[in-house]
This record gives sequence, C-alpha cells and structure tokens, in this order.
Amino acid sequence: MRVYNFSAGPSMLPEAVLTKAQTDMLDYEGSGMSVLEMSHRAKCYDAIIKEAEALLRELMNIPDNYKVLFVQGGASQQFACAALNLHKTGKADYIVTGNFASLAAKEGARLTNARIVASSEEKTYTYIPKVTKADFDPEADFVHITFNNTIFGTKYNYIPDTGDVPLVADMSSMILSEPVDVTKFGVIYAGAQKNIGPAGVTVVIVRDDLLDRFTPDCPTMLKWKTQADKDSLYNTPPCYSIYISMLVFRWIKSLGGVNAIYELNKKKAQMLYDYIDSTDFYTNSVVKEDRSLMNVPFVTGNEELDAKFVKEAAANGLVSLKGHRLVGGMRASIYNAMPIAGVEKLIAFMKQFEAENK
Ligand SMILES: *Cc1c(COP(=O)(O)O)cnc(C)c1O
Repeated sequence: MRVYNFSAGPSMLPEAVLTKAQTDMLDYEGSGMSVLEMSHRAKCYDAIIKEAEALLRELMNIPDNYKVLFVQGGASQQFACAALNLHKTGKADYIVTGNFASLAAKEGARLTNARIVASSEEKTYTYIPKVTKADFDPEADFVHITFNNTIFGTKYNYIPDTGDVPLVADMSSMILSEPVDVTKFGVIYAGAQKNIGPAGVTVVIVRDDLLDRFTPDCPTMLKWKTQADKDSLYNTPPCYSIYISMLVFRWIKSLGGVNAIYELNKKKAQMLYDYIDSTDFYTNSVVKEDRSLMNVPFVTGNEELDAKFVKEAAANGLVSLKGHRLVGGMRASIYNAMPIAGVEKLIAFMKQFEAENK
C-alpha cells in the first residue's frame, strides 16, 4: 500500500511517473536496455536530456539568454559555486532566512567578502525581512536569497530589487510550484529531490552574461561554464535522475503547466493553514503573509503529544511528518506531487487527534 509521504526531501513523486518508469525499466523504447544502463552519449539518452531541458524551459518560461544546467553536488554545492562563478569585486550580499540560507552565507564567507544584509534569526526565522535596493552594496558581485525556507516554512512574497547586481536564488523547495519571473534573477538553482525528481541532480539556470566571471582557480567541475559549453554533458551526468525529472516535467505539463499546479498548491496550503488557524490545539508561528505553500510546520506545544502525533499519523498512512530537529513538532511538506486527497486525509487525522487528546 502506498502512503502519503510528507517528507521534506527526498519526497513524493507522482504515481504516474513511477508507473511509467516501471514500464520503461527493462527496455526503454525498444533500446533493449534500461535508462540506468545507457551511455550518456547514446542517441536515445540525448533525446531524454534535451527533452528535459526543453520542457523545463517551457514550464518556467526561461528566456534564450539563460542556460539550463543539470549538475551534481546538490544545492549545497551551489553555495560555493555562486561565489566561485560570479567573481568581480570579491564582495557579496546575503539575506539569511533560515538554516540553508545561513549555510550558504557561511560557505560564501570562505570564498568572498560575504555581508549579511538582513536576517530573521532573532525571531527564529518566522518571517522574511523586507529589503529595498538601498540595502544592497551596488558593487556586490551578487545578492543571495533562499526563496522558500524548507525547515522554517517561509517564502518570499516579493522579489528583492537588487538593481544591476545579479540576484541568486536557491529555489530547491519551491521550484515549479508557482510561476516565477526568471528575468528578475541572475541565477536560480534547485536540488531536484524536493519538487522535481530524485536526488542526484541539481538544476542551475544562469543568465549567459554571467558565465565568464569565474575565479581563475575555480575547479573545472564547479565552473558553470564547463557544463554550459557542453550542454551538461561535459562528464557523465546523473542520467537516471534527469530521466525521472523529464517524466515529472511531462506530468506537470499534462496537468496544465505551472499555473495550473500553482492553483492546486494554493488550495492545498490554504486548507491546511485554515484548519491550523481555526483551532488552538495546533500552531504555526510563521507571519501569515510569509507562509510557505510547500512546507507547513506546526506544533501542539507539548513535545510528548507531538511525538504521539507523528507515530499515530504514520500508523494511518501519513508518514514523515516529524519536524526538522531545529524546529521540533511536525512539518507537512506538500510539494507538487502531494495530491489534495493526501492533505484532506491529513486534516481529518489532525481533527481526530485533536478530539482524542484535547
Ligand atoms: C534541501 C535544501 C538544500 C540542500 O540540498 P542538497 O541537495 O541536499 O544539497 C538547500 N537549500 C534548500 C532551500 C533546501 O530545501
């Protein structure tokens, strides 16, 4: 029996995608082999990676002057790549809105003169700071933000105006969940395992005029230009993860694209927040206007009860609801692949648990 998996990542994939992968497993389109066994130089693999890129471009409306890269190393590796690839003055501005944003700034500080422009740490990252152009150093090489904060459940409801300074956004936990104007960003990156596909592939979308700013000693494999010049086939890419991502992109397109999935995501999040707000039993402490559509943390205020909740929910087919160790309590990650029925079942369980434990 399949469960509703609320894991923050790796996370649920659409069942249609898994079934298709199952069908293709032993013999991919008459090739007589699995995609797992295929050379990344094979013609049939080339069609897969090209379709993946074309679909992502279509879904996100990515202009031609942006390169789309499929790389390895996770979103975490891009923390260093930003500083290594955008070098000019050796200064960079960071907004710190959570754990990953903080890790990005710390990694940046090893490689560049990293300045923290704003942080919401003093309120345990329960809101997104409002910043204006005047807050940024016009000489900075880039401004780095984490668009959706996976652990704390916040999301930018605006795109900071950084003037001519390229804006770099970690979109790991919200990419493809809502429409985004790519032209407002210099670089967007995302680990696939939240909202795209399996772990192992990271998407980097980079404006092409930024590809020549790497530091002289930037390692070949961390240089965006290396993969940009070779269409992500400089070396062996994470072939199978890219194939599953391609199937996910097809699935999103079949539902009507990002706008259509955004409507579903708003509906799911609204249902859950509305219920949490309607009762004193559960609390979500994020400032309402900054709430994430993808990651919904909540607590009962009693650690023992939280643990009981997680355990009983799992017994009811609602798994991976334990909150991150930094926050405690519960967290429901409701990425694109989580059906409305999963959220309905979660809310029904929450009501029942409340009735039994009030
Ligand atoms: C999960 C996550 C990361 C870390 O991703 P890895 O692929 O494990 O390196 C970084 N940033 C955000 C916003 C995330 O959600």
